[in-house]
This record gives sequence, C-alpha cells and structure tokens, in this order.
Amino acid sequence: MKVGVPKEIKAHEYRVGLTPGAAREYVAAGHRVMIETNAGAGIGATDGDYRNAGATILTSAAEVFASSEMIVKVKEPQPAEWSQLREDQILFTYLHLAPDPEQAAGLLKSGCIAIAYETVTDAHGGLPLLAPMSEVAGRLSIEAAGSALKRSTGGRGLLIGGVPGVQPARIVVIGGGVVGTHAARMAAGLGAEVTIIDRSIIRLRELDELFEGRVRTRFSTIESVEEEVFAADVVIGAVLVPGASAPKLVRRSMLSSMRKRAVLVDVAIDQGGCFETSRPTTHADPTYEVDGIIHYCVANMPGAVPLTSSQALNNATLPFGLALANKGFSAVLENPHLRAGLNVHRGRLTYKAVAESLGLPF
Ligand code: NAD
Repeated sequence: MKVGVPKEIKAHEYRVGLTPGAAREYVAAGHRVMIETNAGAGIGATDGDYRNAGATILTSAAEVFASSEMIVKVKEPQPAEWSQLREDQILFTYLHLAPDPEQAAGLLKSGCIAIAYETVTDAHGGLPLLAPMSEVAGRLSIEAAGSALKRSTGGRGLLIGGVPGVQPARIVVIGGGVVGTHAARMAAGLGAEVTIIDRSIIRLRELDELFEGRVRTRFSTIESVEEEVFAADVVIGAVLVPGASAPKLVRRSMLSSMRKRAVLVDVAIDQGGCFETSRPTTHADPTYEVDGIIHYCVANMPGAVPLTSSQALNNATLPFGLALANKGFSAVLENPHLRAGLNVHRGRLTYKAVAESLGLPF
C-alpha cells in the first residue's frame, strides 16, 4: 500500500505520524512510504533519516495526499487537510470528533474511511492508542509539580524528594488509572510520600500490590479527599469518568485550608478538570494562582516532549497501522479492535457515541 505522512499543521504540534523507525517497518513489510519534507523536524528526524529508512520524501502535503492510499497523522485533520482527503482513502489519526461538527462535516464530505486512535480498543477493554499519552502526561505531571515548587518559579522552595534528615513532599494523586499510576511511580521514585485515591477498590488492590507498600492507597470519599488534599504539597488530578466531564473533587472553598503555595496539577483538564478552579493553560504560560495555590493545567502535556511522545505513540499504532496497510479495509472488518476505531466510512458516521453527540444519523 502507498502510505503517506504529511507534516502536522496544528499550532504547536511537533509530533509526527510515523517515526523513521516505524517507516522502516512499513517498508520492510513491502509498503511504499511517502513523507512530506521536514515532517520529522519537531522530533529531530531529518529527511535523510527517512530516506535511510526506505521512505520517499515529497515536497508538499498536497503531493502526499494525492499519492497515498492511507494517511497516517497525529492530530485531527485541519480544514486545509479535509479538502485533500478523498473517497476510500484511509485516514489513521486522533480525531476527537464528538465536539467538532465542522471536522465531521469535512470528513463525511470527503468520502474517506477515518479510523480514530482514541476509540481503538484492546482485549482488556482498554484504549491502547490513548494509553501512551496518559503515560507521558502522568510522568510529566511530577516534573511540572517539581518545577512549580521551586522558588525560582514562584513556588515555596520545596524539593520533592527532600534530603536525608528533611521531610520529602507529600504528593496526593486523585485517580489511579494510567496517568495516576505513572505519576505515582515518578513521585515515589524521587522519594516523595505518595498517596493514591481512587473510587475503584479493585484498582486500589492492584496498586497496593504493584507498589508493594511504597505508596499509600485510599478509597475516594469527600472526607478522604479533604484530609489528603489539606495535608498535601502537591495534588495531581488524574480522574476519568468515561464519556463524561471530570467530577469537581476539589472545590474553591477547600483551597484556603491547604498548605500555602501548594501545587495542583490538573491532568484531567482535557475533560474539563477535576478542580473547580482549573482553566486550561499552555506550555508557554503553564501556571496561575488562585487563593495562594499554584495551578498547572496544560491541556496537551505530551506536546512538551514530542520525541518521547512520537515514539510511544508509534509503538502503539504500529501493529494496527501495519494491519491496515497489509489488508486495507478488510483489516477493519476482521479485527474488532480496529472496527471500534472506525468513526467515518464513505460519508457515514459509524461510531454511535460520536453520531449521538453530533446529532447526526448513525
Ligand atoms: P484512566 O481511565 O486510566 O484512569 C482514571 C481513574 O480515575 C480510574 O482508575 C477511575 O477509577 C478513577 N476515578 C474516577 N472517578 C473518580 C473519583 N471520583 N475519585 C477518584 N478516582 C476516580 O484514565 P487516564 O488515562 O489515567 O486519564 C486520566 C485523565 O487524564 C483523563 O481525563 C485524560 O483525558 C487525561 N489526560 C490528559 C492529558 C493532558 O495532556 N492534560 C494527557 C493524557 C491524559
């Protein structure tokens, strides 16, 4: 199959659909890979790296779209890209269509077959193409907190791990899923005193075994959240209620009872945030203060580390992308997990929840 990778054009998006290593796997499987010139610049991959992997470099996105049977990207296509997609062309990327009627109209009009990373499933009921970005965001959340605690950035001057003879930071992670587990791992590794709060007792049992006593676990109630948040130096918000906005677990009225200049990192900000006082921020200006509490609420945290993020994403997308390249649309019909990723097929929405939220036929 002819597989094309245009350079990402969404503002501040530095990731790339295929890394040189992934391109090499497609070429080894007998496919032709076409990369727009400079598509890998954001991760330091040159056109030469892609040529060495066996790919062909094309000088414009228009050429990539015109000559490919499948387009592999990272972010949802932008208006200039919808118009270049055509009937039966496979699009494999993050779409997040539910809140985006304009993009939905553009994809429906194109007649393309669009498979959304975020709805592809695995045998354990997970979302394997979302998980790598949660891993990155979870690990980064502790770096973000460490930076916000430093005096030089306006913090209260606390080192997360302390030193011998000095108390480390108390870090509370609300939500013990993918983000929360990776945040806890980083925090514990730095020597912090870590507590994970979750409303799933089964998940708390798993975490208790996983961390072998290195991390405390608590069941999520109004009382436990209050007690832990009031005593914390850092609170990581990592809850998810699938298909719903994040519940507001920390109210503004609670901030005055917290330690002065404590740090709230709201990773769940992309679902509206789990702290009442959260509002989305950017990597350029990541923090703000409310009632003496520092808030970090960057909505696209993995964008800060596009090299790691692109590699992690490619590791997860590669088997699915190769199946699509090998078998074309038959791969979707044969594999229920890829089928779960199918959002648009030749002018029709094929994902029920997306159709319902857009008020369009399914
Ligand atoms: P996940 O489903 O793996 O984990 C969510 C956890 O939250 C589950 O264990 C669930 O039991 C728990 N939970 C739900 N309600 C709770 C409550 N009331 N109290 C305590 N725990 C509760 O989800 P995830 O992949 O870890 O993602 C977490 C959030 O991070 C999501 O909103 C996701 O969209 C977001 N995210 C943001 C970024 C970013 O850049 N900001 C990047 C990746 C993920």
